[in-house]
Amino acid sequence: MDKFSVLQQYFGHSSFRPGQEQVVDAIVSGQDVLGVMPTGAGKSVCYQVPAMLMPGLTLVISPLISLMQDQVAALEEEGVHAACLNSALPEGLYSTILRAALEGDYKILYVAPERLLTDSFLYLAMHARIAFVAVDEAHCVSQWGQDFRPSYLKIAEFISRLPCRPVIGAFTATATEQVKQDIIALLQLNQPFTLTTGFDRPNLYFGVARPRDKERYIEEYILDHRDRSGIVYCATRKSVESVCKELRSVGISATRYHAGLTPEERSKNQEDFVYDRKRVMVATNAFGMGIDKSNVSFVLHYNMPKNLENYYQEAGRAGRDGERAECILLFSLGDVQTAKYFIQNSHDNDELQAEAAARRDRERLDVMVGYCKTTRCLRSYLLDYFGEHHTGGCGNCSNCTGEFVQTDITTEAQKILSGVARIQKRWPGGLGVVALVQMLRGAKDQKTLERGLDQFPTYGIMRDVPPQRMRLYLDALQEQGYLTETGDEFPVITLTAKAPAVLFHGEQVTMQERAATAQETQAKRRASRKKTAARTALSEADDSLLASLKTLRSELAQKNHVPAYIVFNNVSLDEMAELKPRTMGDFRRISGVGDAKAAKYGEAFIKHIAKWVREHSEEE
Ligand code: ZN
Repeated sequence: MDKFSVLQQYFGHSSFRPGQEQVVDAIVSGQDVLGVMPTGAGKSVCYQVPAMLMPGLTLVISPLISLMQDQVAALEEEGVHAACLNSALPEGLYSTILRAALEGDYKILYVAPERLLTDSFLYLAMHARIAFVAVDEAHCVSQWGQDFRPSYLKIAEFISRLPCRPVIGAFTATATEQVKQDIIALLQLNQPFTLTTGFDRPNLYFGVARPRDKERYIEEYILDHRDRSGIVYCATRKSVESVCKELRSVGISATRYHAGLTPEERSKNQEDFVYDRKRVMVATNAFGMGIDKSNVSFVLHYNMPKNLENYYQEAGRAGRDGERAECILLFSLGDVQTAKYFIQNSHDNDELQAEAAARRDRERLDVMVGYCKTTRCLRSYLLDYFGEHHTGGCGNCSNCTGEFVQTDITTEAQKILSGVARIQKRWPGGLGVVALVQMLRGAKDQKTLERGLDQFPTYGIMRDVPPQRMRLYLDALQEQGYLTETGDEFPVITLTAKAPAVLFHGEQVTMQERAATAQETQAKRRASRKKTAARTALSEADDSLLASLKTLRSELAQKNHVPAYIVFNNVSLDEMAELKPRTMGDFRRISGVGDAKAAKYGEAFIKHIAKWVREHSEEE
């Protein structure tokens, strides 16, 4: 039998997916492999097909009992003899399986890593002909990985005790360069054929936005994407609650999920979302494992996750149906502080190991922050991190589609660097960013005055620059290597060797920034929605609101003895039904609403809409 007939006969596929065939060829020819491919990219075929082609037994080492059982069931279904050995088996069954394995009854045997060095299993290993060992979730061997398992470190020892060294294949869904090196070294792979594939999801649009008001952004985004289903991820239960409440208050069909809810409510809410009874799921990262909902067309991140692995996994829940979907991360500097706080408090600082873990977490956080701040193609940034090459310029991310302008910030850079230089003259170790910004902006707070920063010649030289913009300059100077921020608990900012070129030799500094800020983009969105509002058919719910608004209009018209259209015309009512203004500010943005009409009718319409929304929101 050749690989194609195995693939067809046992797995029902007529062709291999990209990369699979090379991996199979390498294994069958006796070469070790390292396969890095995400869930759903056809990882198991890469070791199951060789298992069928090679003489003897294939061992698959996997940490997940339920996954092993599923795979065995699937293989049996396909007519492949397979079994799994794990701690969940009753004693009797365990030895029955061992005996059958010895007699050569199975082609594939799944085993948990903890079992490998037990006497009974070693006995089998010594006497059975093991041709190939596939290590699934191979990143568990690395302390740099997210799910380090000490039992994985025993795999190499186990293999070294076999009478004949089998081919080794290591497979994982996510592996950074460091983790890959660990896998190769710790599993003692011999010049492995390495393949990284399947991470690119061309139908996903990636975006980073820095809106001033995140809740507002999310609300408008969802209103803009009528009839679309999506997930909003938040970092904390508290923000899940507040975002969910906010969305419901404007009539969006939303539900929530976090570890603080009862198991009953969690599974009910999850079902509501999966079966499209609720359109939007607001959740912490506790939500999503094992959820298979193909029509998720957006994943918004209210907060930045703590690393890119988590982000890509969560964002990747969008667009499983292959349809175009959007993954947008809402970034704010506060998120960085929150993430740092979590890292500091999730490890016991006394232990050396915990300290190393915290350091790795911080490094991963830096990569995540880099994603939020970079101006290069977001897709290439992501794929680079996961080891898959991409040339950039994908045309389907906010950096590729956004308009960028180069701003000359040499003068600002000189002011800032000069401020840092003066601080370092007094405090050679440097001060924190806040102290620097307060001095440059001429703040009069106690700390600034106590330190005598108001006596510095650089005090107040950037008085007119808003703090947000200051932050952009500082980011740019750090990114371009003129400034460096060090220290975790009390980070200080200092000059680098590159700084004098700007300070004394007039080296030009530029900053790449988006031509359209998040606010402008939102304003555009609002405008375009207004334009289309009248033209697009309103949803059923909005139709019912529209009908009741018309009744209200008639009542007001009669009371004021004017024709109905004088109160508001139909275009205005259509827009009200769709946009559901909540405040006078919102109400004034409705077309056809001037000051006089707002003053005369605004309150009545806003109250009416609020009442309607309350009565029609799906809040139980
Ligand atoms: Zn791009």
